Amino acid sequence: MTRTDVLVVGAGPTGLVLALWLTKLGVNVRIIDKTSQPGTTSRAVAVQARTLELYRQLDLSDAVVSHGHTVPAINLWVQGETKARISFETINAGLTPYGPMTFPQDEHEQLLIAKLETLGVRVERQTELMEFSDQGDHVTARLRGADGQEQECQSSYIAGCDGARSVIRHGIGVGFPGGTYQQVFYVADVEASGPAMDGELHVDLDEADFLAIFPLKGPGRARLIGTVRDERAERADTLTFEDVSSHAIDHLKVKVEKVNWFSTYHVHHRVADHFAKGRAFLLGDAAHIHSPAGGQGMNTGIGDAINLAWKLAAVISGAARPDLLDSYEEERIAFARRLVATTDRAFSLATAEGRIAEIVRTRIVPVLAPAAFKYDFARRFMFETVSQITLNYRDCALSQGAAGHIKGGDRLPWAPVAGADNFDFLSTMSWQVHFYGSSHREIEAWCAEKHIPLQVFEWHREHETAGLVRDALYLLRPDSYLALVTPAGTAAALERYFADRGIEPWGS
Ligand SMILES: Cc1cc2nc3c(=O)[nH]c(=O)nc-3n(C[C@H](O)[C@H](O)[C@H](O)COP(=O)(O)OP(=O)(O)OC[C@H]3O[C@@H](n4cnc5c(N)ncnc54)[C@H](O)[C@@H]3O)c2cc1C
Repeated sequence: MTRTDVLVVGAGPTGLVLALWLTKLGVNVRIIDKTSQPGTTSRAVAVQARTLELYRQLDLSDAVVSHGHTVPAINLWVQGETKARISFETINAGLTPYGPMTFPQDEHEQLLIAKLETLGVRVERQTELMEFSDQGDHVTARLRGADGQEQECQSSYIAGCDGARSVIRHGIGVGFPGGTYQQVFYVADVEASGPAMDGELHVDLDEADFLAIFPLKGPGRARLIGTVRDERAERADTLTFEDVSSHAIDHLKVKVEKVNWFSTYHVHHRVADHFAKGRAFLLGDAAHIHSPAGGQGMNTGIGDAINLAWKLAAVISGAARPDLLDSYEEERIAFARRLVATTDRAFSLATAEGRIAEIVRTRIVPVLAPAAFKYDFARRFMFETVSQITLNYRDCALSQGAAGHIKGGDRLPWAPVAGADNFDFLSTMSWQVHFYGSSHREIEAWCAEKHIPLQVFEWHREHETAGLVRDALYLLRPDSYLALVTPAGTAAALERYFADRGIEPWGS
């Protein structure tokens, strides 16, 4: 029998990020995976700006940026020609340091594994969770190792990062309502040539069969994602690249030289009825799955892990009441439901059949999209939504107050000025207080007494442009989301924020 604070089941991106955060916060973890080696295929390739922002706390943002590929533009194709090109070159300007990026999931996981090993934690491979039971004050799990031997593991909590077929979700009896797309998805990593192999993103609008080319780092490397729905969909398991490739070749003029990986799969759109029960939690694909078209799935799993990690660490160390953990489901399930509904609508539109749908796709979208994207607000809206930088926890129990249009629960706006980038201070995993303008002596004393980092930025026009309010108090949670925002902060307001929620704040 072994004992640990948190048993993390599943070493995909979600489980790895959870284990990393918990370890950095001093929590004992075991992370197990039933496979003998990490994934060797590229699967999720889009890394969203919000993930890169949050990776500063794991010191991983620069590594992902240097290994990944920044996508300069999207091209919309109709009848073998580019009908519209929308540049991404300045799409993140003033919003976030990071633009749209691709980085294959296998390489991404390798980076996370290496980081975890530097912290002294190894993924226990060929170790499968068979079953578990929540004993009220701890969890007992039965694990089977590579040699077939079974062992018992006791933990304070169990984290279900075990993918779409989650044993933990079944174990806690939580439903996974939703549906399955009739189309079969295929993915192919190729080495190819042709006009669409220029390092940009290309989408074919011609037919109801969706086809997109995501550029990968290195000349001539790309990922094709497509759907098939006709009689080929019925033989998904035996489909080969030759069965689907004519589409890419005819429509996007892709000349494939080598196929490194080809796979087909059915995609579901589902959200678990609950993300937690007792001492068990569901994260990542175990909690929500949807079309890969918007590049959101893996990023949302990573977001789940970061949201839960600091809360588990606080409760395990005694710095917070166990009811802090209730905020995990409250904050994450609403976003997952919205995300699944949105990707479902977008995907259904992109693949709708019939004359009207075809006219919209091939005649209206190529004209309307570039025209709309000439306007700042349209570019901003699209980028902010896809990059997850507008994801917020407004109106949730941990979020309080407002100053201007920034509210408790929001992401802190990025406001770099010469020599002082406010995101440079977001690499810590502690509570912190920001002022833009001047602080109050009383709050300086409170922060000093509690060892809470206090950052005071000289007021600049850029702060106002970003939506910040001069001299307002911004209390940031350990995951860098805003907890309390108030134009007239006092030490008493800070005390009340923590007392009401049963949290003892910690500094770096
Ligand atoms: C073929 C394919 C192509 C994809 N393409 C895309 C794409 O193009 N874009 C995109 O956004 N997404 C894509 N995805 C989805 C993406 O890979 C997932 O969203 C992402 O991997 C979710 O990460 P996760 O860590 O939550 O779960 P997973 O990556 O599924 O990890 C779960 C882990 O848990 C382990 N596990 C399961 N049960 C147990 C158990 N009982 N005991 C121990 N270990 C267990 C598994 O071995 C696995 O390693 C694709 C997926 C597949 C399968």
